Amino acid sequence: MDPVTTNKLFPRLAKVLALCASMPLAAPVAADVNVYSYRQSYLIDPMFEAFTEQTGIKVNTVFAKKGLIERLVNEGNNSPADLLITSDIGRVLQGVEAGVTQPIESDKLNDTIPANFRDANNHWFGISARARLIVVAKDRVTEDELTSYADLASPALKGRICTRSGKHDYMVALIASQLAHNGEEATTTWLSNLKTNLARKPQGNDRAQIKAIAQGECDVAVVNSYYMGVMLSDPEQAPAAQTVRIVFPDQGGNGTHMNVSGVSMTKSAPNKMDALMLMEFLVSEEAQALYAEVNHEYPVRTDMKASNMVAAWGDFDYDSLSMSDIAAQRALASKLVDRVGYDN
Ligand code: FE
Repeated sequence: MDPVTTNKLFPRLAKVLALCASMPLAAPVAADVNVYSYRQSYLIDPMFEAFTEQTGIKVNTVFAKKGLIERLVNEGNNSPADLLITSDIGRVLQGVEAGVTQPIESDKLNDTIPANFRDANNHWFGISARARLIVVAKDRVTEDELTSYADLASPALKGRICTRSGKHDYMVALIASQLAHNGEEATTTWLSNLKTNLARKPQGNDRAQIKAIAQGECDVAVVNSYYMGVMLSDPEQAPAAQTVRIVFPDQGGNGTHMNVSGVSMTKSAPNKMDALMLMEFLVSEEAQALYAEVNHEYPVRTDMKASNMVAAWGDFDYDSLSMSDIAAQRALASKLVDRVGYDN
């Protein structure tokens, strides 16, 4: 078809083509930021949308339940990923230990995030915090019966506790924190006595422990705080969650054990400047409020409140042990789990 015919048949198309031809070819286009995430999209998308609205920078997300670190290793320098988002210090550190992250110098990140919730070497930064709570049957456990992690080893609780596998990251981190505070001997005794107190072989996820309390299988469980938020917000799971009372352990002592979700810059990040802008946005007041609302976690910023539901559970003192100090005890914690036969 020659141009004359185009003009005749499609005058509008011809005008558009002429306009395109007059535009410079290398018009500056805002680059995207690419995120590999172990966190589900619905948890992080609200923040990314707010970021895009403010900056015009698009955020692409690849979500997977596993295999993202392996993928980064395999992709090497050709990886399109700029940021890695993970939760639990065990997983946060997998990327660092695999060598796929890079240190980031940012006054904004360092000034905003408390030191215990970020890496001293700047390879990862906490963006939300979760408490490892004790929950108890409202009708079977009195207020003063149980106030600390140490109490989980009390003979009074024999056959009354449910937890998930001692090998799970959440349990390993809790045991690691006890190691950091109390040393190997005391922690081995504690874990061994806690094992004696189990009502059943460790099984299921954290929510399954709350359901087991509701069903009368046990009276006490150890769970991450946001699962209470998830269950209370879900009409099907709320009745089970309403049978338990939250205990913030170790108030007046070391404080309640905390963990984080975090973000790292990948070693090969192709869009470093924009990715850093996104990292800094993630700890802004706006993003922290959005994140706390949707995931029922605690903001890492000490100047911000949790969502209304989570804040209503009460203020508490958290254990200020650094995530790095906890991480340093993870290997030994895992060994103790085997040594006392926790999962058997
Ligand atoms: Fe979880």
